[in-house]
Amino acid sequence: MTTLKAVRGTRDLLPPETALWNRIEATARDVFARYNFGEIRTPLFEDTGLFARGVGEETDIVSKEMYTWEDRARAQSEKSQSLTLRPENTAGVVRAYIEHKLGETGQLQKLYYIGPQFRRERPQKGRYRQFSQIGAEVIGPPSAGSESPLRDAEVLEMLATLLDELGIHGWTLHLNSVGSAADRARYNETLRAALIPLAPKMCADCQRRAVTNPLRVLDCKVPEDQPIIDTLPVIADSLDETSRAHFAQVTAALDAAGVPYTRNHRLVRGLDYYTRTTFEFTHGGLGAQNALLGGGRYDGLSEAIGGPKAPGIGFAMGEDRLVLTLQAQEAAAPQVPPKADAYIAPLGESMDAAALALARELRHKGLQIELGDGSFRLKKSFETADKTARHIVILGEDELKSGILTVKNFATTNQSKVSRAELAELLSQ
Ligand code: AMP
Repeated sequence: MTTLKAVRGTRDLLPPETALWNRIEATARDVFARYNFGEIRTPLFEDTGLFARGVGEETDIVSKEMYTWEDRARAQSEKSQSLTLRPENTAGVVRAYIEHKLGETGQLQKLYYIGPQFRRERPQKGRYRQFSQIGAEVIGPPSAGSESPLRDAEVLEMLATLLDELGIHGWTLHLNSVGSAADRARYNETLRAALIPLAPKMCADCQRRAVTNPLRVLDCKVPEDQPIIDTLPVIADSLDETSRAHFAQVTAALDAAGVPYTRNHRLVRGLDYYTRTTFEFTHGGLGAQNALLGGGRYDGLSEAIGGPKAPGIGFAMGEDRLVLTLQAQEAAAPQVPPKADAYIAPLGESMDAAALALARELRHKGLQIELGDGSFRLKKSFETADKTARHIVILGEDELKSGILTVKNFATTNQSKVSRAELAELLSQ
């Protein structure tokens, strides 16, 4: 029989790596709480139409990367429905915002999520078909201040804090403004004109984009095209007064807070509901897939999926890439994996039940305990204990009767006798 394996682009996360995932998630939850964000959990699958409208039909995600299926009706009264595993979470959050009429509270909604996303991409290091994102959205009616540049700056400052608290060193914040839909349309035409003489010298994809969607030329990664792209007009020169002022206020607030950034004129999103601020945080240690996270303003998204006017700004961070970055940093300065406080070694199988009772007692006192096995010879118990715990506690008939236990500390090699009442105190040292 052929052995079954995890599907291409998916993977199992095992200890001790999962401890790092948990640490990242705990730090993120802690930072989000300090910025007064609450958690939202949306379903893993949604109606396909949500992503077609909320991510954009012409994006790579929707046109080629979604896991979509026709969900059959189970009864005559039901209709079949096209469903899709979520490839990102912003569309789901905005759908929930509309569905639960959160705008009617009149307040800004500050929501974060942590969970798996699914895209049929070509798997490689840092790029998987099931991956996890940590993201947040700030959304609400304009009267709640949802369009304010201060919201953009606060989200960016929060991200700088989160990356710093995670211990990620050497990140770069790339920042840009794509203005309004009208600004972008104007820029698209400027680019189209500029590309007429240049496109024939560029790659085949760029030659096509120069005609169909000139903005996408800025995404080109072909090395030979880069010097040509550097000479193209930048979107900053196509922004109207309001968009310029908005961006100036975002950068002024970042300067005041001491958050460093670089202006990246190529950070342009092509869809109409993206407006003004766009950003990406990168890390040099990640190789080709160097984006830790991306985000921006989406003032027209709610309306694009049938909701009220609800400007917003948000981001999605690749948790897999945070893990890769931290692992690379830790490889440079390795950490010793933590050991349990004690290993309890029952002397013979007749002591197993009493050993479970002792383990329960110590665990309830907050100690981390590895429970041994009475069928092991003492030598094997010692060898196993030495690998997994800082102490070994021997539990035989005599110890049980007298209530005096033998404990060995592996680091000091000290062996001592201690009463059951004082055991927890000794093991926690
Ligand atoms: P996006 O939703 O495409 O803007 O992506 C936001 C972030 O999610 C990226 O910056 C990556 O860190 C992460 N990400 C996106 N796609 C993948 C993937 N296939 N595998 C791992 N991480 C991903």
